[in-house]
Amino acid sequence: MFLPRFSLLMFACLLALFAGCDGNAKSVTPADPAVGIGAAGPATVMVGSGDVGAAQLERMRTEVAAAMQQLLAVFPKPPAHRFTVFVHADRAGLPIALQPHLLPDSPAFALLGQHQIHIVWGELIRTASSLRGAVVHELVHELLDQHSAPHGRLLPRWFHEGLAQCIAGDTYLGAREEDLVWRVGTRRLLSFGSLREGFPRDQEELRIAYAQSYSYVSWLLAEYRLPSLLAIAKATDDLTSFERALVGRTGRSTLQLEEAWQEHLLHGSGASWRSLFEQCFSFLLIAALPVLALAMIRRFKAEERAARRLAEIERAAAAAAAAAAAAAALAASTPGPHPDPLGESTAPSIPADLPQRPAEE
Ligand SMILES: [Zn+2]
Repeated sequence: MFLPRFSLLMFACLLALFAGCDGNAKSVTPADPAVGIGAAGPATVMVGSGDVGAAQLERMRTEVAAAMQQLLAVFPKPPAHRFTVFVHADRAGLPIALQPHLLPDSPAFALLGQHQIHIVWGELIRTASSLRGAVVHELVHELLDQHSAPHGRLLPRWFHEGLAQCIAGDTYLGAREEDLVWRVGTRRLLSFGSLREGFPRDQEELRIAYAQSYSYVSWLLAEYRLPSLLAIAKATDDLTSFERALVGRTGRSTLQLEEAWQEHLLHGSGASWRSLFEQCFSFLLIAALPVLALAMIRRFKAEERAARRLAEIERAAAAAAAAAAAAAALAASTPGPHPDPLGESTAPSIPADLPQRPAEE
């Protein structure tokens, strides 16, 4: 996302004051002219607010360097003005003057004309955003603004956001072309005229605005290629709007361009199939609910039967144990033969009056 110029001087003063007062504020010192980072290049990475560790700062520096390397091959000229990437620890720690500019589910924003990019590390984590995607997205805003100088402020917001998403390869706020398909049929797309100066505040409409911008610019890129679109942006000035330059370059009216894009969206982008598949999946889930309910009922009944069987087995085992105990008690109470107290043999002895047999010889 980017924010238009307003109160530029006040913001610059506030940020300069803030950076100067922050004990953590420190510039990334390594200079690498090949990727435009550090004192010799156009980009500087600094702590903006909060407790940003050295490892996070170094990671950001690496990502900015990689993004610059990518974008220097995209834009015809390197940026003429230096710009700063401020890294903030979390949303709560943002300076009050900056807080309104960070959308609810967005991890970053650019202040065009002030050459500032603000990236909030905590929001990157919370929204599970791609660090590289966020960095490239915001750098595209800065480089496109400088590319169109001194008329960067005249570029429509939808073009800025569409190009940033396309080059970053990552949409914002979960924007998807699939969500646009039914709006084409019901004529509920947002007008690009309404997306020229700003985007809606309503979260759902905002997501649609990002999706439309991504989809339309993606189609323009496929049809006319990036160099043509950058030339159109460069041709924009106080007398020639971006839209007029687009019509002049393509030879198609705004209406024809938008109709061709909608035709592609419906029949060439695959969004209709993806939307249909998604709906079918939802319908299948709904259709499967009764089957799942029956399966659950059958399982509950089976578990009940198993529980009953187990209870019966336990009752039978308890009864058998009780019977055995009763039999043992009965046996213990019945009198039996006494043992010989003297320990003498009870074997019959030979009577003393019987004649003894002589030993056989
Ligand atoms: Zn953006």
